[in-house]
Amino acid sequence: MIALSAPDLGPVDREAVLATLDDGWVSSAAPAVTAFEQAFARTVGRAHATAVSSGTAALHLALHMLDLGPGDAVIAPTLTFIGGVAPILHAGARPIFVDCGAADWNLDPALLEEAFARAGREGLTVRAIVPADLYGQCCDIAAIRAVADEKGVPVILDSAEAVGATLDGRHAGHGAMAAAYSFNGNKIITTGGGGMLASDDAALIARARSLATAARVPAVHYEHAEVGFNYRMTGLAAALGSAQLATLEDKVARRRAIHGRYRDRLDALAGVAFAPEAPGRRHSRWLTVMLLDQTATAVAPEALRLALEAAGIESRPVWKPMHLQPVFRDHPMIGGAVSERLFADGLCLPSGSVLTDAEIDRVCEVIEATLAP
Ligand SMILES: *Cc1c(COP(=O)(O)O)cnc(C)c1O
Repeated sequence: MIALSAPDLGPVDREAVLATLDDGWVSSAAPAVTAFEQAFARTVGRAHATAVSSGTAALHLALHMLDLGPGDAVIAPTLTFIGGVAPILHAGARPIFVDCGAADWNLDPALLEEAFARAGREGLTVRAIVPADLYGQCCDIAAIRAVADEKGVPVILDSAEAVGATLDGRHAGHGAMAAAYSFNGNKIITTGGGGMLASDDAALIARARSLATAARVPAVHYEHAEVGFNYRMTGLAAALGSAQLATLEDKVARRRAIHGRYRDRLDALAGVAFAPEAPGRRHSRWLTVMLLDQTATAVAPEALRLALEAAGIESRPVWKPMHLQPVFRDHPMIGGAVSERLFADGLCLPSGSVLTDAEIDRVCEVIEATLAP
C-alpha cells in the first residue's frame, strides 16, 4: 500500500526513543520536553513554546485563556480539519465560518468585515480569529491581522499542517498572538501524537504550560487556584520530536520534490491543476492536492480515488468544509463557493517524505491511465 502520509522514521529517531527508555525519563517531567520546546521555538522563530498532547489541545489552551462564553464568537475558516474548530466549542464559544480564497486556500481576509457584521446581527461578540495554514501553506496573516487589530481581537493561528512552511522567510505562525502546531502521525514531523503552542508572550506560554499540567500551583501538596487539563507531552514523545525536528528541512525538501515530480508528469493532463503557491510563500507541500476540473474531464475525483485504491494507493478528498458538516448545520457562514468547489474537485495524493520516486511514478501511471480519454 502506498500511504497518503506515512511517518518518516529513521535510525536517529529510534536511538532517541531508546535512549529515553534507557534513562527512564518517559513522563512529561522529562528534560526532553524542555529541550524539544526550546528547539521548536528556535525553529519557528518564537521566544517561547510549550509541548502538549496534540495540536487540538494547543488550540484549546490558547482559546481557553481568552475566557470565552455564551455570546462570544470566534471566526474560523470553513475549509479545515475539525481539530481547528472543535476547540472553539470546547472553550464555550460559537464558530463563525468564512470561506477561503482561491489564491492560497486559506481564510479569505476580504470576507472578515462581513463576518464581524454577521456576528453583530446574531447578537454575538467576536473575540478571536483562528485562521489555518492549510496543507502546508501560510495564510495571509498581514491582511488578517490588519482587520483583527482594527477590531481589537487576537489572532490564534492553526499552523498544525504548516510546520516547515514560510511566508516572507518567516516560519508559519509568525504574526499571530500564538500559533498551534501538530505532530500527529501523518504530519510532516511526528511525535506519534502531539502538539505545540508557540508565542513571543512569556506569560501566555507559562500559563498554557500550567493549565496543561492540571493548573498545579507549585506546592508539595498540589495546590489549585483554577481548573486545568492533562495536556502535557510525554518525554518519550518529546525525544522523538527533537529527533524529527533535526531533519525538518530535509523533509520539507523531499515533500516539495515529490510535488514537483507530480507536476512534471501531470500538469499537461486536461482538467488537472494543483494547489497554488501564493507569492512570498514556501509551501511545505505537506500534502500535494490535485484538482480535477469537472468541466474539462469526465472523471470525478471519487472515481480516481477508487482507481488508486484498487491499485493499492491511498488518496483522500480535500477537507469537507465545516459548513457542510451535519454538526455545524446551523452555524453562521460567510461565502462558501470556493471551499465547496475545492471539496468537489480536490484529491490529496500520496505525499509522505518516505515515498520513493518509483512509487510516485506508479501513482502517476494510475492517474494517467484513469484520466486517458
Ligand atoms: C492535524 C490538524 C489539527 C489538529 O492536530 P492534532 O494534533 O491532530 O490534534 C488541527 N488543525 C488542522 C488543520 C490539522 O490538520
